[in-house]
Amino acid sequence: MALERSIDSGEGGFTYAVPASLPDLAVGDRVTVPLGRGNKPASGVVVALLDAADPEVQRIKRIKPITSRERAASSLPDDLVTLAKWISGYYCCPLGMTFGSLLPAAVKHATGTRQRQQVRAPAPAPGTKPRTEQREAPDSLDQPPPEIKLTKLQRATLDAALAHTANDGWIDPKALADAAGAKSTSPVKQLLDKGLLESRQQARIVSDLDLRAQRAAPAPGKPPPQLTPAQARAVERLSASLHEGFGVSLLHGITGSGKTEVYLRAIEALFDDAEVSGSADGKTTRGVIVLVPEIALTPQTVGRFLARFPDGEVAVLHSGLTAAQRHAQWQRIRDGHARVVVGARSAIFAPLPKVGLIIVDEEHESSYKQDQLPRYHARDVAIKRAQLAGCPVILGSATPSLESYHNAKAGNFALIELPDRVPGAVLPKVELVDLAKERQERKGIHLLSQRLENAIRQNLDAGGQTILLLNRRGYANYIACPDHRCGWMMRCHHCDVTMVYHRSKTLPTGGVVRCHHCGAEQMLPQICPESGHKVTIFGLGTQRVEEELERKFPGLRLARMDADAMRTAKDYQQTLDTFASGGTDLLLGTQMIAKGLDVANVRLVGVVSADTSLNFPDFRASERTFQLIAQVAGRAGRGEHRGQVIVQSFNPDDPAIQLAAEHDYVGFATKELALRTETGLPPVGRMARIVLRDTDDLANKKRAHELAHALHQANDQLHLGVRLRGPSVCPIARLADHHRQHIELIASPGNNNPAAAIQKLLTAVRNAGRLISDTHTAVDVDPVALL
Ligand code: ADP
Ligand code: ZN
Repeated sequence: MALERSIDSGEGGFTYAVPASLPDLAVGDRVTVPLGRGNKPASGVVVALLDAADPEVQRIKRIKPITSRERAASSLPDDLVTLAKWISGYYCCPLGMTFGSLLPAAVKHATGTRQRQQVRAPAPAPGTKPRTEQREAPDSLDQPPPEIKLTKLQRATLDAALAHTANDGWIDPKALADAAGAKSTSPVKQLLDKGLLESRQQARIVSDLDLRAQRAAPAPGKPPPQLTPAQARAVERLSASLHEGFGVSLLHGITGSGKTEVYLRAIEALFDDAEVSGSADGKTTRGVIVLVPEIALTPQTVGRFLARFPDGEVAVLHSGLTAAQRHAQWQRIRDGHARVVVGARSAIFAPLPKVGLIIVDEEHESSYKQDQLPRYHARDVAIKRAQLAGCPVILGSATPSLESYHNAKAGNFALIELPDRVPGAVLPKVELVDLAKERQERKGIHLLSQRLENAIRQNLDAGGQTILLLNRRGYANYIACPDHRCGWMMRCHHCDVTMVYHRSKTLPTGGVVRCHHCGAEQMLPQICPESGHKVTIFGLGTQRVEEELERKFPGLRLARMDADAMRTAKDYQQTLDTFASGGTDLLLGTQMIAKGLDVANVRLVGVVSADTSLNFPDFRASERTFQLIAQVAGRAGRGEHRGQVIVQSFNPDDPAIQLAAEHDYVGFATKELALRTETGLPPVGRMARIVLRDTDDLANKKRAHELAHALHQANDQLHLGVRLRGPSVCPIARLADHHRQHIELIASPGNNNPAAAIQKLLTAVRNAGRLISDTHTAVDVDPVALL
């Protein structure tokens, strides 16, 4: 048994006795059990059924019985139980907590369900004829015992109840009254009082989904396009893989190469197969999970799936659902009604009775990694789930993660390529602007170079639309004393980071300063607290670019899209809809605008600064920079007009930027992989990171040293050869008043199996009770963020 709120108990769970009242208890069922001295009720999930004679069971002194089982409708399919065990082990998360995040809260609490009464004519006493036969000859049975007198209406009601055979005879009181021609349910109540009808309470989900709401944009009535030769080859290979059990295919298709169409055809192939070979042998139809980044769950993407498959077969899971809707969707999937599930990260836990195919779109996205317990990566969980289900996985991207590319090169994944854009579109030309040169040649501070400014103007005059990317929100990210001898810079009181200025037209002070890490907010100081000078504000942010655009292009129809401007999913969708329908000339935003957008009239893309992620203290800084530029550039030139891209940078010679400008993914990946091989870093080696945090810096350091010591000991004892770095101060030394130390575990390819070496080491210290995932200790296996 895995208890939801238990602390890490290594791999073992809790053992309880199965009471006689639950003869059919199964793995995956959710139950309530007594916990601890006080027998407090706790919820948990059954993870294994042991035999009473099992020596492990024999060893336990006193076994308490399970109290009760929760609604059967929320029990988990077998493969998800196995998957949860794997996640718990691999990502070092207590099993109960893993289950906690597998199962949406709305399902646990049965949100949106209502108890409703149902009635039926009681089953006959033993010895009488079986029910079904009675039903066929109601005439002989509608005789109530002679001492009970019935009114005409009561008799009609009883007749109707006997005649109702659907649903095991159970029927709503109201429906029964209607069938008997009664105006109210009184005759039903009277029959219940007389004991001639029996009743039960049945839970039912009341909030039915409005499927049109998830469609939002009308489904295009266009017939599916004629596949390009490359698409056709991809579909052929993927269709063949459907018969080969588990396997991973990496679909590397450049931006605008029609990857979605390939996914759709692969799904159709799966369903066609099922119709030919399935059902007859009683196989449940196989369902499909399609993962997309949350931000790409636009009406545009979702609309493509809804246009191809009937409404009732598609379930869309996104953050905008109400709890009741989420519950309703979960149930539809669990019951096998929805066989295409489209959703973000956690949709990988969709309770499909049988999975036949998993697709991970934009597989390189770091948002697939969850940054709290369990710290799983949805792409890797997808691969594990497919392995358990014995089905194929498709990973798709224009800029595959080096992890996946490395696996493809090593022959672990099949590599399928779409090297060209769909007919009628070609890749845009990319131009680099050196900002250092621009600074020298032009007076004043301009966020937009002359080149970019001119291009926007020309594009505007020609009737084209523009996308501008700046991956930093706010107005400016430094508030400082202009006197360099003073050197004061405004930092967060709770974190070791600088504060960001956010402009606000409604505030008398003109805006606030905010910490992007803990959310702390303050008024903008007017003078330096140390030397009394008037403060200066510098650095970049989307708000500041917006201001410059408004000044330079009066009348420009401009929309800004970042986490500040887009408060809800609706804001986001409306802004995109308006842009897609031509109601906006220019869309300015953070990385939210860099992916998925397919708007034919976007002829110009500008990157205000390519350098925002380049200097991060993270070995993936180059990879992120390359991906961001390549992805946003991919938004241009999807229609008949050739696209143009202008990238501004202070480092125009940086290889990541250069190669992105040349659309040279393979060149970049090859070069970067060589570097990673040299340093033994992922994906060639494997990594885990443990972050310790505490308000007490000294205590934190002490714990970090103790943990490092335990790790070194186990590493030596087991001859694992894992490299241990630290403990040392994290790049962000303090967050929300907590001091932070980290230890990095790196297993290089010299280790036979780097991933296994890390696992063994973590498991050893975990089982010894020296590493517990809690609020002070975060274990991150395969981390994607290193701050
Ligand atoms: P990607 O995801 O690879 O960037 P999309 O799947 O968004 O590309 O496809 C880009 C556009 O091309 C979409 O509007 C899609 O409808 C269209 N498309 C896909 N396949 C074809 C094809 N074979 N012929 C013409 N248009 C296509
Ligand atoms: Zn802060």
